[in-house]
Amino acid sequence: MTRTIYLNNQFVSEQDAKISIFDRGFLFADAIYEVSAVVEGRLVDNDLHLTRLERSLGEIDIPMPMPKEEIIKLQAELIRRNNLREGVVYMQITRGTAERDFGYAADMKPNFVMLTQVKNITNSAAAKNGIAIDLAPDNRWTRRDIKTTMLLAQVLAKKTAHDAGYQDVWLVEDNHITEGGSSTAFIITKDDVLITRPNSNKILPGCTRKAVLKIAEEQNLTVEERLFTPEEAFNAKEAFLTSASSFVTPVIRIQEHVIADGKPGSLTLRLQEIYMELARTSAEPII
Ligand code: PLP
Repeated sequence: MTRTIYLNNQFVSEQDAKISIFDRGFLFADAIYEVSAVVEGRLVDNDLHLTRLERSLGEIDIPMPMPKEEIIKLQAELIRRNNLREGVVYMQITRGTAERDFGYAADMKPNFVMLTQVKNITNSAAAKNGIAIDLAPDNRWTRRDIKTTMLLAQVLAKKTAHDAGYQDVWLVEDNHITEGGSSTAFIITKDDVLITRPNSNKILPGCTRKAVLKIAEEQNLTVEERLFTPEEAFNAKEAFLTSASSFVTPVIRIQEHVIADGKPGSLTLRLQEIYMELARTSAEPII
């Protein structure tokens, strides 16, 4: 079955979803994206993702193509047309199409694309068994709080990590972990303190991060939003990462450093289970 894509007010088959080579997303990565998970036919934390989409667009002076409520209707229609039970809805909005030039007109019309991807999120080997991650220098620009499609630093860091046999990568700057290549990084200390870096221009404010921190507080875990070093991570009792497309994924090894006994930690698994249950129940099913 070919996928149906949403492209500028039309639903088209993926073979027919075409965009100009003068699109500024293609030429300059002048574009914002978002990813919302779908589990059991329900959008997960979608409001957080659309709020961040609006903020990212505002930060680079691209208008929202339509109000959030309209986007939600289109997402639902796309999920229905593709019969998506579990996976993600990927959304991308570029500044629009114009002759190649750094400058842009104030009245440009954004290009808006949405597509679905089938993905096993809740029952993946990574979620169950955990993953091994590499570390790499954080080579990105300094506005990492904006979710732009300018992802080359992450593409290259992930490729190096995969080639070395790791499943993912965490990024390091000034001897502190910033975040994952496409995720938020967390550790739990031997005293059961959950640590993650505070939001700033140095990281993307993760929507799953926000939801998981809320769960952690409800579970009476001590949470510290502060910088942490690779050495603290190597010596942690537990480690995990969060993202819309992988929920809560245990990290069981960082480079050659096995975390605790090399198995997913119990607090990590508890947060994972609660988040999955919320994902399955908090929104209305679309299909
Ligand atoms: N940090 C980066 C750099 C990301 O690319 C992502 C997700 O793609 C995240 C964090 C996690 O954000 P979220 O939980 O909103 O998916």
